[in-house]
Amino acid sequence: MKRVAMFNCLKANEVCAGAACMKAWETKTRSFTVYRGEEAVLTAFARCNGCGNTPENSAGLKEKLERLVSEGTEVVHFGVCTRNKEGKECPAITQIGEWLDVHGVEVVRGTH
Ligand code: SF4
Repeated sequence: MKRVAMFNCLKANEVCAGAACMKAWETKTRSFTVYRGEEAVLTAFARCNGCGNTPENSAGLKEKLERLVSEGTEVVHFGVCTRNKEGKECPAITQIGEWLDVHGVEVVRGTH
């Protein structure tokens, strides 16, 4: 069974209910088509800790990421909200992705 989490932008939280991510997960569409025909569970739906917070300077963010690991999360999907209008990834998210990679968690760019 695959253990999967989603990780998104805190700023997007002001307007985002997470419904599009959850719909894609429910229907195993968009970035989640890879889980068709495979048992997969969602371990978390988490947000970053805001601009400037990285696993190196934010104990809370590090704790959050460690929780994903302790839950046995194998793959973390970054939402589209973690990229700007030009498609460039947020630098804090890039660092979070590097932390996850070092801790044995696969990172996938994309949810819905
Ligand atoms: S650090 Fe990046 S992902 Fe987090 S709130 Fe700021 S822009 Fe969004």
